[in-house]
Amino acid sequence: PVFTEVDAVQRALLFAKETGCKLHLVHISTSEAIQAILKAREEGVDVTVESCPHYFAFTAEQVDEIGPRAKCQPPIRKAEDQAKLWDELLNGNIDWLTSDHSPCTEDLKQGNLWEAWGGISGAQNNVDLMFDLAVKQRGLAVNKFVDLIATHPAERFNLPHKGEIAVSKDADIILVDPNQSYTVKREDLYYKNKHSAYEGRKIDCRVTKTIVRGNVVFDLEKGIVG
Ligand SMILES: [Zn+2]
Repeated sequence: PVFTEVDAVQRALLFAKETGCKLHLVHISTSEAIQAILKAREEGVDVTVESCPHYFAFTAEQVDEIGPRAKCQPPIRKAEDQAKLWDELLNGNIDWLTSDHSPCTEDLKQGNLWEAWGGISGAQNNVDLMFDLAVKQRGLAVNKFVDLIATHPAERFNLPHKGEIAVSKDADIILVDPNQSYTVKREDLYYKNKHSAYEGRKIDCRVTKTIVRGNVVFDLEKGIVG
């Protein structure tokens, strides 16, 4: 339940406050936890917060249908909780988004929801998925989206060559075509273990090129290259 996440977050915030230690909280899935973090920040705690695409893409009401592929920790939240998390993201209260990609062999995702491996495979589709949901469908500014996936993490972890397109930075660039659509299919996954909670999902936007330190590593026509 939501309160167990808030409890864990509040304990970590208390320790950070008492020790003066910097704190970065990952996989936050509830508005209640975000509010606790904002309050601690106002009180002087040096804290940042990350969330993951699956908390914005799925609701608990859909998990029965998707099955164990949608099991993760914290769990996927109810629609009403997700709506509040969206408000936090759009209001700038979440510092960044990461995939929390959790690969496992397919047999570990079998069985019931209690036995199955907890973790979602999503890295391949997370950027275009969130661009679709946040920028196209909800009007988040593109530069705010860039902050969420690149600039803020680079700043927080002191990665001086990452996080923006500028002279002296690594040329890490993603090209996104907002006018393309595709459906996530198992046979198109590049993972070693080809399963994903997003199989069958239509995404109205598409990454067409990925450049790492100036080298093209993915091209929509050619697949993984270089
Ligand atoms: Zn994780």
